[in-house]
Amino acid sequence: MRAQPPATAGASDKDHAVRIMKRGPRRIVLTLGRCLKLRCPACGRAPIFGRPFNVKVHCTACGVVFKREEGFFVGAIMANVGATEVLILLVYLLSLLLTNLNEQKMLTALFVVGLTFPLAFYHHSWSFWLGLDHLIEGLSREERSQ
Ligand SMILES: [Zn+2]
Repeated sequence: MRAQPPATAGASDKDHAVRIMKRGPRRIVLTLGRCLKLRCPACGRAPIFGRPFNVKVHCTACGVVFKREEGFFVGAIMANVGATEVLILLVYLLSLLLTNLNEQKMLTALFVVGLTFPLAFYHHSWSFWLGLDHLIEGLSREERSQ
């Protein structure tokens, strides 16, 4: 369960915003670099995925939780869809400018991009979404029962 700021504390909300703004550019670049390498955004020592298309429950090195509450990764899916749409648009515009493909071939190429890119970007969209959450709120540690 994610820690929520108290509902009645306006000062607490301000403190939370100040903490977020204190994240320096160095930390942001470091976290994004870890996400690019599909490593834990908190420590960078362990991979996020144990198997293809399967996020680990928690980091094996530092213990932060990767598998969050239900619906957490809807944002990752949305980022993947958005990136795919932008790429399809770029491919379409570049092919209009640089090639003489007829409409049928262009639609086929865009269809192939629309099918393959979301699969290729799947891991990184989840990794960047997790990294974004780490930068904004910080990932919670695994609760150990012993
Ligand atoms: Zn870690």
